[in-house]
Amino acid sequence: MRRIELSPPVLGKAEKDALLSVIDDNWLAMGKRVSTLEQEFSSLHGIEHGIAVNSCTAALHLALAVYDIGPGDEVLVPSLSFVATANAARYVGATPVFVDIEDMLRPHMSLDKARAAITPRTKAIITMHYGGYLMDMRPWRELADAHGLVLVEDAAHVAGMEGAGVYSHASAFSFYSNKNMTTGEGGLLLVHDSDTDSRLRLMRSHGMTSTTLTRDQGHAFDYDVVDTGFNYRLDELRGAVGLEQLKGLMERNRRRVELAGIYRESLAGNERVRIPFDASWQQCGHIMPVLLPESADRHRVMVQLREQGVQSSIHYRPIHTFSQFRKQGVGQNGKWYALPITEAYGMRTMTLPLHAGMTSEDVEYVVESLNKALS
Ligand SMILES: *Cc1c(COP(=O)(O)O)cnc(C)c1O
Repeated sequence: MRRIELSPPVLGKAEKDALLSVIDDNWLAMGKRVSTLEQEFSSLHGIEHGIAVNSCTAALHLALAVYDIGPGDEVLVPSLSFVATANAARYVGATPVFVDIEDMLRPHMSLDKARAAITPRTKAIITMHYGGYLMDMRPWRELADAHGLVLVEDAAHVAGMEGAGVYSHASAFSFYSNKNMTTGEGGLLLVHDSDTDSRLRLMRSHGMTSTTLTRDQGHAFDYDVVDTGFNYRLDELRGAVGLEQLKGLMERNRRRVELAGIYRESLAGNERVRIPFDASWQQCGHIMPVLLPESADRHRVMVQLREQGVQSSIHYRPIHTFSQFRKQGVGQNGKWYALPITEAYGMRTMTLPLHAGMTSEDVEYVVESLNKALS
């Protein structure tokens, strides 16, 4: 039987050798590999400043903190996302305000519904490029500017995609193990101006004015603490893996998009399965979510796929349905959230395996298994 994993990392000799060279250098703390990764990742995106951190979650937190979003403020977020998108608002003491998606086949946060959710307390918006399908950020920037809001992109799904990070104030990328490029754990924040960049570098490392490396190199013995900082640094082992992963990123993204296209073609014969967005949408093939028919028993379908050796997942259970958010949340207009399209999408969506190491035969096998499970 085949075994097709959802999204294993694609690693090889280059990553192994890169790790060994870090050991040989005997320097593990943030150093030259991390700063090279920052330069190369930001220049790939055509954005001037990149700050590497140890997760996308940390990057999202810093993005709100550096713009002084805090208690009493509201942050508009999609509920159809990973929980970290909303937790970022919580970390700074702000309130995440959940916004519904556009529609079942365009499950991005809705611009019109976001506009309608703006209050005098709204201070920021976090958008998310669901599934690796790029959102058009221009109207979002217009909305943000019209209301004086900070615009942040949760870009965890779109590493390497042209257009990501261009129109927002800050964009947060993830190098977690199941993302399009990985360092195991890791992330990076892109911003456009040097003042924000400098403050982020302080905040990443305890608000300290010098690093271990600059002290080691004899540039300083002493330091001051000038901001409320965190320990969000990336290390050289991860920096080294990241540099190797970055070299193959564009080719792997191209392959992912190709495989997503093969999925679309093979699934076209099954009119009970719908695929969000369309084949021409700008994307980097991060995940392969599909919509099952309303009548299907999703749990049973996933179990049957597993029996065929096919791993599947759900992206996402809506954040506003989690007990922690219900418990702490105040909702809007005195009621907890009702986001009908997000909720319907969350019930019917299922994610099929997609990664750069798959073959077209693997895709055909997954589709056959899915068709069998649904019949
Ligand atoms: C993976 C992911 C994150 C969190 O990334 P980490 O690097 O694991 O912190 C945030 N948002 C979205 C949409 C993600 O998919």
